[in-house]
Amino acid sequence: MSKIARRKFIQLSAVAAAGCFVRPGADAQAQDMPHLSEDDPVGKSMKYTHDSSTVDPATRANPAADQRCSNCALVQGADGDAWRPCQIFPGKLVNANGWCSVWAPKA
Ligand code: SF4
Repeated sequence: MSKIARRKFIQLSAVAAAGCFVRPGADAQAQDMPHLSEDDPVGKSMKYTHDSSTVDPATRANPAADQRCSNCALVQGADGDAWRPCQIFPGKLVNANGWCSVWAPKA
């Protein structure tokens, strides 16, 4: 397995595992959840930042130009909210303008 394929496998495994912890109807309580810290160990392992503009596009595995939490397939909650739940970080809110290395385009 190539290094990139292994990385993608690990990322998708994390997505699948995170999905097991997401409860239906959890969005109703979403705004009560704490914000994900940029110092969070899991967030750091996925290079999470509150500001996607600080990420060098050359370092991203996915070549899509516009990558933000608000246009990621894994974000939850309502469009327009500044902080939203994410399937990767259950129990925490991510910044709509944030980014992490698991970013995936919406279908
Ligand atoms: Fe979650 Fe996607 Fe933002 Fe990563 S880029 S923190 S997976 S919403």
